[in-house]
Amino acid sequence: MEIINRPPPPKISQFTEKDCMGCNACFDICGPKAIVQETNAEGFWYPKVIMDKCTDCGACDAICPELHINELRENGTTKNPVVVAAYNKDEEVQRASTSGGLFSALANKMYDEGGYVCGAVYTDDFYNVEHIVSNKREDLVRIRGSKHFQSNMTGIYRQINKLLRKGEKVLICAAPCQIAGLRMFLRKEYENLITVDFICLGINSPKIFQKHLESLELEYGAKAISVQAKTKDLGWRALAYKIKFANNKVYLKEGSKDNFTRSFVETHSSVRPACYVCQYKDFPRISDISLGDFWGIEDTKSKLTDKNLGTSAVLLNSEKGIAFFESIKNNIESQDFSLADVLPHNQALLHPLKKPTFKREEFYKALDTLPFDQVAKKYFPSKLVKLVNKAKIILQFAGSKIKHMGFLPKAYFQFLWINFLRKNTERNRLRAKLFYPARFSVLDIHKQALVSIKGSILFGYKRIRGSRMETRLAVEGNGSLEIERGRISVYYGTDILVFKGAHLTFKGDATINQGVQIICMDAISIGADVLISRDVVIRDNDGGHEIMKEGYRKTAPVVIGNHVWIGQGAMIMKGVTIGEGAIIAAGAWVVTDVKPNSLVMGDPSRAVQKNVEWRH
Ligand SMILES: Cc1cc2nc3c(=O)[nH]c(=O)nc-3n(C[C@H](O)[C@H](O)[C@H](O)COP(=O)(O)OP(=O)(O)OC[C@H]3O[C@@H](n4cnc5c(N)ncnc54)[C@H](O)[C@@H]3O)c2cc1C
Repeated sequence: MEIINRPPPPKISQFTEKDCMGCNACFDICGPKAIVQETNAEGFWYPKVIMDKCTDCGACDAICPELHINELRENGTTKNPVVVAAYNKDEEVQRASTSGGLFSALANKMYDEGGYVCGAVYTDDFYNVEHIVSNKREDLVRIRGSKHFQSNMTGIYRQINKLLRKGEKVLICAAPCQIAGLRMFLRKEYENLITVDFICLGINSPKIFQKHLESLELEYGAKAISVQAKTKDLGWRALAYKIKFANNKVYLKEGSKDNFTRSFVETHSSVRPACYVCQYKDFPRISDISLGDFWGIEDTKSKLTDKNLGTSAVLLNSEKGIAFFESIKNNIESQDFSLADVLPHNQALLHPLKKPTFKREEFYKALDTLPFDQVAKKYFPSKLVKLVNKAKIILQFAGSKIKHMGFLPKAYFQFLWINFLRKNTERNRLRAKLFYPARFSVLDIHKQALVSIKGSILFGYKRIRGSRMETRLAVEGNGSLEIERGRISVYYGTDILVFKGAHLTFKGDATINQGVQIICMDAISIGADVLISRDVVIRDNDGGHEIMKEGYRKTAPVVIGNHVWIGQGAMIMKGVTIGEGAIIAAGAWVVTDVKPNSLVMGDPSRAVQKNVEWRH
């Protein structure tokens, strides 16, 4: 994980397009009204400072979130949010919402408390989106649901400030950059304010949506009377758009065929330039609560059944957020999860979008002369190009596997056997997760042992050409090896032994470097995003020997939490639990539990540092 660092942008008056997210906070703060909104050829607004009116008071620079990102990150929210999967118990609300209808549950609670809710609504013609603040429950129908292009927040910061000062309660849901704008504008923590943002892929140009809608209005012969992004009519996963027209005709298309969604999700051409270098990714987040889609929930051990109507990923980032979420629990179905369950399927939490592969300027120029469907035809990849690209990816993928498996028939036989021919192998056939045994790997797996492959594993990866070092895996009768998700890389020279009836589980991405030994007689669980350096030994047992002492146990499970880094040559002994985020120093002998986010070293190991953070 990496926080995106870029050089500090210049003052607002010298901003270029990539510096401004368009949160509009500077318009609201400017007393002499020296900042005006200028919409550029792409349809995005930017602040323009009228120098004649500007008193150079510095208020706009002082509150611009783009200039104060570090300050914002130190605002009391946590890097390790509480993560919950949830949806609204009211199926109608869930259906009308973009994900699980969690926003509506939060908003209803705020109305119950007599407070105000601030959220985005379409203008009457659906050509624009703006935020409103209201304490009328009937407004929730308009606020509910994602609108995928930029919402105008001018005036909202002042309104919220006024309400909070009067002691009114306010809940706002907006893009992370807008919440950042609000926090900077207020410059003060308010107990009566709940901030909610969403996991944001990027924010799109209103002009592109207008062009899209104009094209459709022409085609359908009438004005739009309702627009619903990510309608559930074709199921939550279809990302479909539904637009109703005044003549009762209906446009309903899944995302992969809807030109506006393609411009956003597939080509990234419609997002604001600053979204390519978005500063609001990663953790800590800026808001009390973050909402998103819980993509990949079907791959977890979730008890929730959302009928393809949407499950929200809820990140509770602050104490205030946790408390407010507790108060809606009667109205939702929910289950606790960890960040490691959300991240693999929602990279928008961590990384900004990449720029389009075509020339963005030409695409926007074309918009001024051609209808949107024709621009899309010209710039968005055709079915054939998509097919060729897919084939390229498959060939590259196959090439990389052949590189590891070489041309030894044994490796291919082992590949077929462990993935497709063994009776006791479980695989999620739809997801194409596979076990890749590199050449010189030795698999000795009892026919009654369970191998569960829900993530992929490259077994015996090696760097040095010509080396014939073996990588060994033995699983005895009734033992199990389970790869729950993610990608596991096991480097050459590693030796994994799972005895009769014992269970070794990988919970997510893990790298196991050369010469590691994992000796499992009871249960060993390895979390997601774990790095295990060379020559580490992990054992949950004392081997074949016993100490003659009352209460003595020869075996005890080992649990390694998420995001743990184990240094070279460390020994992890039976019964140990290593907490999330911990670092085990090289050569440490770990015989007692390790607290989350601590650094331990020595023999026997002891904590030498708390609150450590690491990344790779
Ligand atoms: C542009 C955009 C990109 C998104 N990208 C992702 C993503 O990559 N991954 C992911 O998991 N989730 C993403 N989401 C969030 C997701 O679509 C849902 O909004 C979120 O999960 C909440 O859903 P819900 O069912 O709880 O509530 P909903 O009722 O759907 O909540 C909608 C709330 O979002 C606010 N909102 C809607 N449109 C806008 C807008 N244009 N500007 C500011 N605020 C708005 C409204 O005020 C409303 O309060 C995105 C949302 C938007 C608007």
